Amino acid sequence: MIPQGKLRRIKREAQVQKNEITQLLIEDMSSEGFGVGHAGGMAVFVKDAVAGDLVRARIVKVKKHYAYARLEELLSPGADRVEPRCPCARSCGGCQIQELSYSAQLRLKERKVRENLIRIGGLKLDPGEDSDGTMRCEEAVFQPIIGMEDPWHYRNKAQFPVGADRDGRITAGFYAGRTHTIIDNHRCVIGIEENQAVIETVISWMEQCGVRPYSESGGDGTIRHVMTRAGFATGELMVVIVAAARELKEEQKLVSMLLAALPDHAPSDRSRPCRGSDTGKNKRFRITGIILNTNPEKTNVILGREMRVLYGHDYIEDRIGNLTYRIAPGAFYQVNPVQTAVLYQTALDYAGLTGKETVWDLYCGTGTISLFLAQRAKRVIGVEVIPEAVRNARQNAELNHIDNCEFIAGKAEDLAADLPGADVIVVDPPRKGLDRVVIDVILRACPVRIVYVSCDSATLARDLALLTQGGYRIRKVQPVDQFCHSVHVETVVLMSKVKE
Ligand code: SAH
Repeated sequence: MIPQGKLRRIKREAQVQKNEITQLLIEDMSSEGFGVGHAGGMAVFVKDAVAGDLVRARIVKVKKHYAYARLEELLSPGADRVEPRCPCARSCGGCQIQELSYSAQLRLKERKVRENLIRIGGLKLDPGEDSDGTMRCEEAVFQPIIGMEDPWHYRNKAQFPVGADRDGRITAGFYAGRTHTIIDNHRCVIGIEENQAVIETVISWMEQCGVRPYSESGGDGTIRHVMTRAGFATGELMVVIVAAARELKEEQKLVSMLLAALPDHAPSDRSRPCRGSDTGKNKRFRITGIILNTNPEKTNVILGREMRVLYGHDYIEDRIGNLTYRIAPGAFYQVNPVQTAVLYQTALDYAGLTGKETVWDLYCGTGTISLFLAQRAKRVIGVEVIPEAVRNARQNAELNHIDNCEFIAGKAEDLAADLPGADVIVVDPPRKGLDRVVIDVILRACPVRIVYVSCDSATLARDLALLTQGGYRIRKVQPVDQFCHSVHVETVVLMSKVKE
């Protein structure tokens, strides 16, 4: 904490003031997707500005060494600026960098991974000696990021909050960044096109039947969210209505309206693998399940515990590579199936399996990576903290007739020490990265290879530095763009022992 007196002095000395409007040349971009310029000797971070822009921006927050500003006027656009496809791109919290050309987005993400490894992990880009525990690698270790051919309509899951505007009109769309204000938008350009028909049908059913949206502040009303999950390889679509009630007025009318809005398209094809061209844009989906989820709690968590099938199945199936996955409404499943296939294939390649290995898949979710690995390993052991995901993982193994996979429910940090020895260890932790205990267990297990799948390159860098100190060396770094138009980037890293 800075003492009050010092804070006042700093603020006096600061050469930009809150609410001041300043002209800035955006010189660079931060890893959070802000444009970065300089004013009054300070770095100024401007949301919605991109490198090369000349802007007028209003200072909204002044910190000790930097400030935040809001874009007021674009005076001259940078070379990488494009017109966002979504009219709500600035206000919606989903996409952060739609105004940046896709190739520039990919460059930004590639750089983010690299800079985090250097800045946080202490990576030195020279072959050097491995003896001092410094993380080192040659330039060639960095693989070019794998982006999408068509980075639109790629998301297989959407969650639209439903509410009412000041005039009582029903709205549905997305929360504005960091708030619970609903931006009315039924056409999200990163989701599947059918979402629009689903959301508009639910709203018109609500209007016709006098069903009110749930109010977060008052706790009254019924409909909270509409969620969709789509199988890109199978064409199956699940609609989940999240309500504060156990029963809805005229449920059957809702079902028939939804089915009429999305008439039966091509029959389900569960034998076809997901292809690179299978984005939600080229695909037509048909409803194979409508589910009522009851969530009466005052909470930010979207799904409640109770589910009741109103139509069809309480799951969808999808395929990644040659494997089939059954996905329950609440199950974790990667949101970009086209790129997930790339991600898992990379992890499998890096694992370098010959059929003789015992492999750990820590943080395995519903066993998606484990099953990929199992096809080339002797034995795979998956560890996952959510018991329902472990149940799904076992079902998925059965569905694919894979019997050399075991799944254990519990925390990786509690269970890893007691697992049988591993030749290869794959980890895919949540954003906070690996627990220190897990790193120590991995080092003691002394696998030939470690494959680290990461959704946060900052914690990845921290963990790779620790694994390096434990005698491993980075051999490959492969960023994959799973979340186009956001600043997030997925990375697969291969490490192996310095001395075999
Ligand atoms: N590999 C999977 C899931 C990755 S997401 C896939 O690709 O689909 C990370 C997973 O780690 C989540 O399923 C989460 O529930 C699980 N998890 C979080 N903390 C954990 C812990 N301490 N131990 C084990 N699993 C954990």
